[in-house]
Amino acid sequence: MLANSVSVNQTPEDKFREYLASRVKPQRYTEQQREMVRFIFAQHDHFDTDQILEDMKASGLKISRATAYRTLAKLVDAGLLRRLQTGDKTRFEHDYGYPDHDHFHCTLCNKMIEFHLPEVDRTLSEHAKEHGFLAIRHNLIVHGTCAECTQAKTPRRLLDLI
Ligand SMILES: [Zn+2]
Ligand SMILES: [Zn+2]
Repeated sequence: MLANSVSVNQTPEDKFREYLASRVKPQRYTEQQREMVRFIFAQHDHFDTDQILEDMKASGLKISRATAYRTLAKLVDAGLLRRLQTGDKTRFEHDYGYPDHDHFHCTLCNKMIEFHLPEVDRTLSEHAKEHGFLAIRHNLIVHGTCAECTQAKTPRRLLDLI
């Protein structure tokens, strides 16, 4: 996990309220949505819809699946969350107030490891320039197996040889 969040002048709740109010057809900020935004932004995590529903339920918060889906889509649209495609699951994480970073994704246990390499940013923007492409941002996910899963998968005798 990356330690420091980026300082922002609005709370996620206020930013979302502003987003809802700025729609062509202004939308009401419901109590369920407010609870969900508060819950999601209490801690940085990579989660899918099922997981957030389960975690909210475990914390005594009630939200319907339909509301959760709709709210997550709106939070992405509002620039508060971003989507991460990992295998067959769409996951979400904070975008607003969180620094740019890339991910290692373990295909066995689904762990997400965050990293930020300035040299990757540099290489990508230089390469983009060669194509006359104006790079704004990227979203790099490297799929593989984490240290624990790799070790668990590797036969004992192979480890003895290393
Ligand atoms: Zn793993
Ligand atoms: Zn992340």
